[in-house]
Amino acid sequence: MKPDPHPGATPIDELVTANRILAREGVIDSFGHVSMRDPADPRRFLLSRSRAPQQVEPRDIMRFALDGSVVGDDAAKPYAERFIHAAIYERRPEVLSVVHTHSPSVVPFTVVSRRMRPIMHMCAPIGSDIPCWDIRHRFGDTNLLVTRLEIGHDLADALGERNVALMRGHGCVVTGRSLREAVFTAVYMEVNAAMLTQALALAEGPEDIVYLSEGEIEAISKGRSSFGIDRAWENWCLRANRPFFAQV
Ligand code: MN
Repeated sequence: MKPDPHPGATPIDELVTANRILAREGVIDSFGHVSMRDPADPRRFLLSRSRAPQQVEPRDIMRFALDGSVVGDDAAKPYAERFIHAAIYERRPEVLSVVHTHSPSVVPFTVVSRRMRPIMHMCAPIGSDIPCWDIRHRFGDTNLLVTRLEIGHDLADALGERNVALMRGHGCVVTGRSLREAVFTAVYMEVNAAMLTQALALAEGPEDIVYLSEGEIEAISKGRSSFGIDRAWENWCLRANRPFFAQV
């Protein structure tokens, strides 16, 4: 067999790239993580060992079952909050990637009654109905971390069929039907939060904001192709010093 003249990245390489991009774009810092469902087995997902995303390398990627347990004899220390990913993959068969962030412009929206909604067309994937899950409602005073499957399930219930959910005093979760889609939505969720905060500072009053309408969000979602996501991905690969592959 002839070698492929245009070899693509492996899923693990792409997951490493996703880690580096989210770090470079300021969506995750030393904390936060991104996972993908294992293309070889939908009952498994791939996620780095407990390490800052900017540092993640292919050998750091571990494999997990949908109860958050480690698959195989990998002795590395996993992220304490891997149950966020496990619970969402279990509840949402169509979700192929999950991002968890503490992205700085998003967190303020988790502690106020004003709802986050999209104001700019690139941010439409976050949707207009964004729930804010509060760990305290069911689990009382905790360290706010999703360290058990039971807590992950409660978060997944709040997320429902949506793309994103806020986590009070903590951050957010973002889902995608591909790794690139989840990263795209996570980046533009941070962008939307920063722009909305600026718009609120300029507004004549709390009602003086024009959000995207339901119809606009639907039209943008319908007309969306992978082209826009790949264009962003190529640019973000350059910024993160990672190789770009047009197809995976
Ligand atoms: Mn967290």
